[in-house]
Amino acid sequence: MTEKTSDIKIVKEPEGLKGEGFFATRLDQVLALARANSIWPLPFATSCCGIEFMATMGSNYDLARFGSEKLSFSPRQADLLMVMGTIAKKMGPVLKQTYIQMAEPRWVIAVGACASSGGIFDTYSVLQGIDKVIPVDVYVPGCPPRPEQILDGFMKIQDIVKNESLRRRSLPEYKELLNQYGIE
Ligand code: SF4
Repeated sequence: MTEKTSDIKIVKEPEGLKGEGFFATRLDQVLALARANSIWPLPFATSCCGIEFMATMGSNYDLARFGSEKLSFSPRQADLLMVMGTIAKKMGPVLKQTYIQMAEPRWVIAVGACASSGGIFDTYSVLQGIDKVIPVDVYVPGCPPRPEQILDGFMKIQDIVKNESLRRRSLPEYKELLNQYGIE
């Protein structure tokens, strides 16, 4: 009888030195590893793309595999703002306030055509992309995007988190980016 091998994958360790009973690496790599695998998303879902996100959270696609089963509906306990759906211009200030209430470091995904560009709603009342009011890290195309695409966007955020310098948030370039949106 053959023994079943485990298909559980362990997160790859960062580069470092190891020997009998010790492992040494850089602090920023440890923080990056921890952050990238414990992202708490805030689902800002206003319409149909939100339904795809529900599927992404379900057992088949299982966002929990990435350490992100803890959704936060308070911006103060969230790292990743996931904007899914049509954002009316009237909703823009609410979205911006939600972003401002999140602590640094924070990341943003525009999920689907509406959040990315207004989608098919080229009208006076719809915001033509959330990057008109807040900075966006990853855009997920599609109307609606499939859960696989949402996962792909999520993994791109993980790549950004893993490779972002700890100093990035205090760089003048980052402050200038926020200033462009009137955020201090
Ligand atoms: S991109 Fe398409 S599926 Fe997503 S919210 Fe807009 S209309 Fe709905």
